[in-house]
Amino acid sequence: MRVRISRATGRCGHADDHGRGRRDGKSLREKLGVRSAHAYRALAAAPVIALSLACGNATAHESAPAAPSIITRVARAFRSRQTGLAPPYAGTDSRGIPRYTKRSFTPDERSILRSAYGVVELSHIYVSDSSDEGIVKYDTQVKRCATCYVNSYRLGFTSVRRPGESWDDLERHVRRMKRRDFAPSRLVMTSSLDALDPDIRSEVGDMLADARRAGYRLHVVNSYRSPEQEALLMTEGRGRTHTLTSMHSYGRALDISVGDGSLSHASTRASWISFRRWVIRYRGDDFRILGKADRSWDWQHVELPSARIGFRTIEDAISRGRVCRTFPATTPCDFPPHLPARR
Ligand SMILES: [Zn+2]
Repeated sequence: MRVRISRATGRCGHADDHGRGRRDGKSLREKLGVRSAHAYRALAAAPVIALSLACGNATAHESAPAAPSIITRVARAFRSRQTGLAPPYAGTDSRGIPRYTKRSFTPDERSILRSAYGVVELSHIYVSDSSDEGIVKYDTQVKRCATCYVNSYRLGFTSVRRPGESWDDLERHVRRMKRRDFAPSRLVMTSSLDALDPDIRSEVGDMLADARRAGYRLHVVNSYRSPEQEALLMTEGRGRTHTLTSMHSYGRALDISVGDGSLSHASTRASWISFRRWVIRYRGDDFRILGKADRSWDWQHVELPSARIGFRTIEDAISRGRVCRTFPATTPCDFPPHLPARR
């Protein structure tokens, strides 16, 4: 029986505990300002060892993610005090529909959001979730029900959108494109960890190694994807993506298949759900999945958000948009990726 230490209670529990991914936008190492992976590991292991000793049989088992719960909670509380409450347009309502903003906008604000961030319908803006990790997003179509998937774009994310182009126009443009319309050199899709943001590469490697030691059979399908590759995925359809703004293009996401990769097999599904619960607790909730552990339109996707990428409020987007549109611009409108030098 796999035993893990509940991060919420500090008590011992079983591996089927429910959990949420991290919601504070930075890796724990970033939060704590610990640059050395070695120093971080030493720091992260301390509370786990202490709690393990208090749990009798629950010694430091391989499958228990090294979750520094006390440190994480302190860091989260500190950050929450800094950032305040989530805006009213954050998260979803009881039907699973985004709380689209009801904010009024001045003509100047409308102009900024249109020209810098391609937003046509201001009432389609919301923040992805109500945590301090929520990202400002824009839906070209209003979502009508929890499973009515619509295309969503994270404002300020790198993409194939051209300066001044609206997301609505870009969608129409991309829909008409064929593979031959993309420069082959720009269609980059790899499963190599070397293509990831160097800041997270070692943590991802550690996570995969720890997960495999814990018994999960994993296969990395994809790591980095260029914005053009994201656009091609949307062009080819089949529901493989609902966005042109992806953490894959920041080298901060992976698609991971579990077992034989077939969710129709009960044992694969069970293992996949277990892995998804495991990964969102790994090292202080650094990793994030889409949907719930047992319900998602994208089971493979695992990402590491960053506080450096994306907007937390509409006001943040307007402020950057005001600066990035000046000439000569010293700040780009979109957040630049941090990728390995050779690409
Ligand atoms: Zn993905």
